[in-house]
Amino acid sequence: MTGKKIVVAIDGFSSCGKSTMAKELAATVGYTYIDTGAMYRAVSLYALRNGLMDETSIDEARLEQQIKSIRVDFRPNGKSGSDIYLNDENVESEIRTLEVANGASRVSTLKFVREHLVAMQQKMGAAKGVVMDGRDIGTVVFPNAELKIFLTATPEVRAERRYKELLQKGITISFDDVLANVKERDERDTHRKESPLRKADDAILFDNSFLSPEEQRAWLYGVFSDTVANQ
Ligand code: C5P
Repeated sequence: MTGKKIVVAIDGFSSCGKSTMAKELAATVGYTYIDTGAMYRAVSLYALRNGLMDETSIDEARLEQQIKSIRVDFRPNGKSGSDIYLNDENVESEIRTLEVANGASRVSTLKFVREHLVAMQQKMGAAKGVVMDGRDIGTVVFPNAELKIFLTATPEVRAERRYKELLQKGITISFDDVLANVKERDERDTHRKESPLRKADDAILFDNSFLSPEEQRAWLYGVFSDTVANQ
């Protein structure tokens, strides 16, 4: 892809297929993909492992003291993409559990956690040529991103996708539990005080509930190409 490099910000609800779309676009156009949700998950894993968070509470004071020593980065995995490292340990699979996901949506409500991760994300995207997905990319991390997309799908469709993914990984769980988890995270993400999930005014709203992966891919590549052509 020739032309000026841009920043693509993909925000939206959990289990909307943001990361699949973002990853595929990045691979197709030769951009770097940055999964910011994985970064919040890594902080959640750190807090769980170090006894700073349990089901009911977070030891905010101790987490804040340690936050600067939590290093998160992405390294190529030798396959098609990259894996996330927490203080030099590959935690790509450890961060994908429901427990860590739930913890991520809790630690992500804390201002000092967001500030620490947003600063890292801004550095990672400073040279442009990135596709970044998350909740606040178009509103906070890169408010001047050239292309902003806000993805959405019904909670039932999202829970169904997540449920199938978990079953494939051999994780046994009921559909109702997955749906409850999706709704609980939506509620927390949209109502938190710090950077709540919301569509940026200049983001394109895209509901992919009833679209095939091919239709989604074609649409995204189309808007990306138009945006680059207009730079
Ligand atoms: O996208 P993913 O489900 O991996 O994100 C895990 C959690 O991290 C989300 O539920 C959300 O609370 C939080 N998050 C966030 N801001 C981002 C990315 C993720 O608050 N940019």
